Amino acid sequence: MTLDDLPLRDDLRGQQPYGAPQAPLPIALNVNENTHPIPPAVADDIAESVAKAISGLNRYPDREFTELREAFADYLGHGVTPEQVWAANGSNEVLQHVLQAFAGPGRTAFGFAPTYSMYSLLTRGVGSEWVAGTRGPRFEIDSADAAEQVREADPDVVFLCAPNNPTGTPLSLEVIERVYEASRGIVIVDEAYFEFASDEAETALTLLPGRERLVVSRTMSKAFAFAGARVGYLAADPALVDALRLVRLPYHLSAITQAAAIAALRHSDEMLRTVDEIVGQRERISATLEALGYDPYPSGSNFVLFGGVDEPHETWRRLYERGVLVRDIGIPGHLRVSAGTEDETTAFLDALASIRDE
Ligand SMILES: *Cc1c(COP(=O)(O)O)cnc(C)c1O
Repeated sequence: MTLDDLPLRDDLRGQQPYGAPQAPLPIALNVNENTHPIPPAVADDIAESVAKAISGLNRYPDREFTELREAFADYLGHGVTPEQVWAANGSNEVLQHVLQAFAGPGRTAFGFAPTYSMYSLLTRGVGSEWVAGTRGPRFEIDSADAAEQVREADPDVVFLCAPNNPTGTPLSLEVIERVYEASRGIVIVDEAYFEFASDEAETALTLLPGRERLVVSRTMSKAFAFAGARVGYLAADPALVDALRLVRLPYHLSAITQAAAIAALRHSDEMLRTVDEIVGQRERISATLEALGYDPYPSGSNFVLFGGVDEPHETWRRLYERGVLVRDIGIPGHLRVSAGTEDETTAFLDALASIRDE
């Protein structure tokens, strides 16, 4: 029995699922997690909140996750109100809700490739067509060119990844403004890595007033060191948020998830304390890779894409043998590595140097 024998949807035949390898290696730097564990005192407080929620698990949770929306609005600032906030099990589900409401069969979603691989998968999953635009030679996006591409493609949904995964490329507000003006559909700015951006980087939250088709999505999976809890969120016009209620499953955020996320947000300063340290390791990776003769790209995130790798898959395999997991994202001559703790980063850099010297 294979997939071919099943009455699978025609548009899913031949598709590959999301498949970052999950291997139990000591140095896992392949999916851009925050590799620092949650501080024990914070973990205790989260556990206490979850324990309280457990005694009420006989009832469905607050379908409107009101307290969590208030906490996210507080955290985001920039005048964002709870009515403008939506959340789900990871920002992947948040993005799926947007696509379910605003894309779907017969419609299109657009992004500037290479970009986050889940955009095309989620798009096809809701029966829409994925349209890939192009970037400049260093994966940057020029605002006039971007606006032209979007005008030409005329998509129902545009994804802008800021900074971009897998390249790390920062994105200016000017590009977002021009793309918004050039489009008639929903424009999603995915700020999954925003907390790692430089201090001068401006969030697209500042563009929300007056732009009712704009969505800014965030996640607790990266800077917040909360990937295992599965919590993502967005800010947008209250009417747009209302549209998402048409497609979400009832009670999609469990009482346990809500309790854990609310408790974590109470400690956002402590949860985010490792961000500066991670940014420091990112800069160290870039400098060391350059000294080793590789070609790292500027990054506003917690990972570095680097070129100059003659045989990416072979290099990936030899790092794997040394207990280091990085990401072969399928760009010829390139690999991507997440910035870990100082020790993890050292292990990666030493392993790579020893492979190069062999
Ligand atoms: C990691 C990542 C996410 C986060 O996904 P979650 O479902 O929130 O874990 C979203 N967007 C991009 C670009 C990412 O790299």
